[in-house]
Formats: sequence, structure tokens, C-alpha cells
Amino acid sequence: MNCLAHIGSLNPYQPGFQPKEDGWLKLNTNENPYPCSPKVPSAISALLKKEDSNFFRLYPDPHSFSLREAIANCYNLKPTQVIAGNGSDDILNLVIRSFTDCTSSAIFLDPSYSLYPILLSIQKAPWEIIPLHRNLEIDFAKIHSSKANILLLTSPNAPTGLGFSNKIISKIAKDFSGLLVVDEAYGEFSEESATTLIPLYDNLLVTRSFSKSYSLAGMRVGYGMGNERWIACLDKVRDSYNLDFFAQVAAITAINDQSYLIDTVKKIKFTRNRVESFFSKLGWFYYPSKANFVFFEPKNIEGQSGAKQAINLYHFYKSKRILVRYFRESEHFASFLRISIGTDEQMEKVFETTELWLNELQK
Ligand code: PMP
Repeated sequence: MNCLAHIGSLNPYQPGFQPKEDGWLKLNTNENPYPCSPKVPSAISALLKKEDSNFFRLYPDPHSFSLREAIANCYNLKPTQVIAGNGSDDILNLVIRSFTDCTSSAIFLDPSYSLYPILLSIQKAPWEIIPLHRNLEIDFAKIHSSKANILLLTSPNAPTGLGFSNKIISKIAKDFSGLLVVDEAYGEFSEESATTLIPLYDNLLVTRSFSKSYSLAGMRVGYGMGNERWIACLDKVRDSYNLDFFAQVAAITAINDQSYLIDTVKKIKFTRNRVESFFSKLGWFYYPSKANFVFFEPKNIEGQSGAKQAINLYHFYKSKRILVRYFRESEHFASFLRISIGTDEQMEKVFETTELWLNELQK
């Protein structure tokens, strides 16, 4: 006996390196450098102090109803237009399981989130790619002529950080005959959001995450929003108890503390500007970011850039215990590194280390 051949030969998703020991500056998985709202640990410890510990013994609410309500309130939607999941990865998985199979394909940009082709491979669904070149222009004709059942659009895009405007997203929603899924895992770091377009387009589904802006990556909460018909489909496919009790409480508490979210996002955007100015001063190319990371192209002391320089700096950072992300399989972007935005103090360390790299190259 063996597992199915396509599973046996599958290259699984590779999460960014998670070091076991302390002392690393982790700027490789776009986690938030600030803690979550202090109301979250307070809410959880209040529950733990309760004598009645039924929340351990009993199953949690299978529909995460209060959480759906809190999300719906936040976006002026109905709870029936919202689904909650075990991270937005869970929602993406549900979308791919519900909308693709060997005869119903998907289309997505390259580069974008590397989980998409893996989920599609598991589903044995074919896919088409819209390649992004250095100018990051989208091939709209390809989208228009595509017969795919779903289009996965990461906005802000990862790893480039490019945000697609609502004008572009509207154009795609009108042009594309299938379901347009806008993956806004980094949406709170951008000024525009496709969530405001949900009432206008029946074929639009937006996914968001509590992992990045809300600093709750360890809790695993994400959500999808769109037409009730599609939400009902996803609900049929999801695990009955896809969110545990504490995850539901944590997410409800976090989303109800919008002023804390706004403050944290503001700090990260301020530091992001500092990081971009640093690269500008060095004369290094980067894409202006709408997310909590910057995708940049290092240059050596002779002004040369390329995969060799990017890999060299990646290893130099690693030798100084700074982790960033390198995408070795990327065709057009092998000369780039992606760095998550940390605190100001953490980014000072990155600046010093980068200067040290340039000085050492000069010797
Ligand atoms: N979409 C994109 C573009 C991402 O980078 C990530 C995080 N790796 C996710 C979705 C999933 O986020 P989560 O499951 O933590 O909500």
C-alpha cells in the first residue's frame, strides 16, 4: 500500500526557518515585532481563572459565530458574509477544495504566495500563471481570456509588497469570469482594501489574517468575506471545529481593540519608511511596500546586483543571527531579499550589519 502518487511526489510548503534557541533577529516570516493587544492575554487569563473549566471539556462553537459577528461589524457586512478559519491558510485551502479540481483550474501571479500551487497540487487542479516581471505590470489580457474558475490575487503582494489599487481589482472582478480571491494577509498595512468592493462584486472573496497586523500568528486565526453563497459553500467543506475556544476569544478581543491595531500598524509603517530610506541612500532598488516587509535588491561595493550578491548578504546576515528570506526558485527576482519590518531598534541592527557587509566587501 502507498499514499496517492501525487501526494508521494509533492514538495510540501516550506515555512520560513523557526530557530529553536533565542538570540535570533527573526525577520523572515513577517511576524509582528510588537505584542498583541494587552486585552488578549487579559481575556484569556480571566477565563483560565474561572472555576468552571468547561471550555476545556466541551467543544468550542463550531461556527465561531461571535467572531464572525465581530468581523462583520468591523467591515459593515452580515455575519453570513464571513467565515473564520484556522489562519487564512485554512480559508485558502477551503477555497481551493471548493472551487478547483482536475477540470476546474486556478490562475495566480508569479511571484505570489507559494502555498497556492501546493494546495492546487493536492487537489490535482491545473493552474495558469501570470508572470510578473521587474515592472510588476499585470497581463490583463491573460486574465480576461482565462477560463480558470478562481483567480488568486495577493494584495499587497508577497514577496514584492506591491499593493493593487481598488481600481485595478474592480477591473479584474469585471473582466474575470470566475471567483476573484484577494488574499489580504497584509491588508492592514495598506491604505486601500478590496473589502469595500464586496457589496459591488458577487465574484469577489477577500481573505484576511490575525497573524500579521494583530500579532496573533501563534493563535492561528484568519477569515474570508464575500457573497453569502460562496461562504455557505466554504462552510460545507471546513472542519466542524476549525477554531479552538481560545483562538476565538483572542480574535474577538483583538478585533474589538481597533485603537491598538491602528497604533501598531502606524509604528510599523513609520519604520518601513525608515527602511526604505536606508535602501534609497545606499542606491539599492526596492519596491515601495504596502506590507510589513520590504523586497530589496542588494548591491555590492562595485554597484553590482544579482543572485550572487543576494545570497552573499543573506548568509552574512545569518552569520550575525539575522534571518531574512531568499527565494531561490524565483525566475525574475533571484537578486532580491525580503526583510520583515521589526522595531526601530531591530532595524538599526540591520542597518549596522548591512554597512558592515559593505565595509567587509571593500577589504
Ligand atoms: N497569504 C499570504 C500572502 C501569506 O504570506 C500568509 C502567511 N504566510 C498567509 C496568507 C497565511 O497567513 P495565516 O495562515 O497565518 O493567516
